[in-house]
Amino acid sequence: MRKEGEVAIVGAGPGDPDLITLKALKKIQAADVILYDRLVNVELLEYARSDARRIYVGKAPGRHSMTQSQINEKLIQLAREGKRVVRLKGGDPFIFGRGGEEAIALAEKGIPYEIVPGITSSIGAAASARLPLTHRGMSVSVAFVTGRRCRGQEESPRWDLLAHSVETLVIYMGVGEMAFIREELLRNGKSPETPVAVIERGTTPGQRVVTGTLSNIGRLAETMKLSNPALIVIGEAVRAREHLLRLEAEAMERIG
Ligand code: SAH
Repeated sequence: MRKEGEVAIVGAGPGDPDLITLKALKKIQAADVILYDRLVNVELLEYARSDARRIYVGKAPGRHSMTQSQINEKLIQLAREGKRVVRLKGGDPFIFGRGGEEAIALAEKGIPYEIVPGITSSIGAAASARLPLTHRGMSVSVAFVTGRRCRGQEESPRWDLLAHSVETLVIYMGVGEMAFIREELLRNGKSPETPVAVIERGTTPGQRVVTGTLSNIGRLAETMKLSNPALIVIGEAVRAREHLLRLEAEAMERIG
């Protein structure tokens, strides 16, 4: 009988390769084939067996090396060939990673699969930017939101509800839509003084953080030429970061 293949849909973490889980690392080491995304740190591929196939299936905005359905087909085909397949994705596969769609495609065909979670970029970036997403007295709720605008059948977030019901908003895929997001939140009554941080390339050596308010962040982001991958964090929690940095600077001065 033919050996049965399997697929692991694996989160690679937010960028810093050290932030991968042990379970994900073991999956990479055991894989026959790895299909990896654009936001995966390629250093992680060095842990794969030297004879493992590495297939880039990244989707740069507007430039897809493979469509989602071609990726699904490839996963099915490789598993049917009896391969141990790792589908390596940036951050966590179930947070804006289309991991759910891949799982559905595999489940439909009865192919064994597993989901290995990863540190999603907002959790990673918040940590390396020293920005507590929840903080006593400032934020008791946090939401992960897509900033990508409703195109075709894609659903758009309810900015009217988000403006009032959640304290910390973390927006993925939002830098290109900054003007629209600001406008939606302001139009729905969010204060222009609400603090905002944009974290670019979080957890990597190239990380940049820009902070401002809803009223001026668009201009700041433009001046700093912030680009993808980046996250927008909106809410009072951003002030907790400023407090932390101030304390650190004061302590440095005392010591230094
Ligand atoms: N599944 C991924 C998200 C994929 S959507 C995860 O869990 O993180 C792609 C978006 O993720 C980017 O547009 C950006 O908003 C965010 N992102 C991914 N890596 C990032 C990083 N290192 N720093 C900041 N944002 C990042």
